[in-house]
Amino acid sequence: MEREQYLAAIKPRMPEKRYIHTIGVMETAIELAKLYGEDEKKAETAAILHDIAKYADIEWMEQIVRDEKLDARLIGWGSELLHGPVGAYIVASEFDITDEDTLNAIRFHTTGRVGMSRLEKIIFVADMIEPNRKFDGVERLRKKAMKNLDKAMSACVRHTLAFLIDTKQPIYPLSIECYNDTMKREE
Ligand code: GDP
Ligand code: FE
Ligand code: FE
Ligand code: FE
Repeated sequence: MEREQYLAAIKPRMPEKRYIHTIGVMETAIELAKLYGEDEKKAETAAILHDIAKYADIEWMEQIVRDEKLDARLIGWGSELLHGPVGAYIVASEFDITDEDTLNAIRFHTTGRVGMSRLEKIIFVADMIEPNRKFDGVERLRKKAMKNLDKAMSACVRHTLAFLIDTKQPIYPLSIECYNDTMKREE
């Protein structure tokens, strides 16, 4: 499927603001793919589809986790943690996407994981720095992303975890594992 078809497929599933965010992630992911020698088409597809499940029904998503035997730890964490793994399931089943790297980029775009591929890092970072994102420190992350993908990934994970701790939110195990992994690479 092509860009316009994927965009048409996600548009009715989300509010306008989320659609605009998605376009921003798409443009940023393509830019990073060019910069770091990744497949631009894969970056485009993963970016367009990354938040496809963001507004799906939680009960339905939890049922998918059970039926498809996804990570059982996801139960009870809510849609913020479910929409990546369930999004990967949706795009595999609805759009016949079989490329494992593309599916992983969608699956792990919220938490990250140990041993992320270049494409996974591009989607994770693009999600955080796309032009519509506005938070303290985003400009610093944007500059880093243009210089060094691993350092940008590490800085983005640290920013997310610091935010979660600051706002007294629980941290999903994969997020911590991802943080530890990026720290090892920083040495
Ligand atoms: P979005 O879907 O474009 O808004 O971005 P993400 O999918 O990256 O993140 C969705 C939400 O999940 C954000 O509000 C993050 O702060 C939150 N989030 C990311 N990791 C964790 C985690 O480990 N625990 C919790 N509780 N929330 C997380
Ligand atoms: Fe998301
Ligand atoms: Fe993210
Ligand atoms: Fe997103």
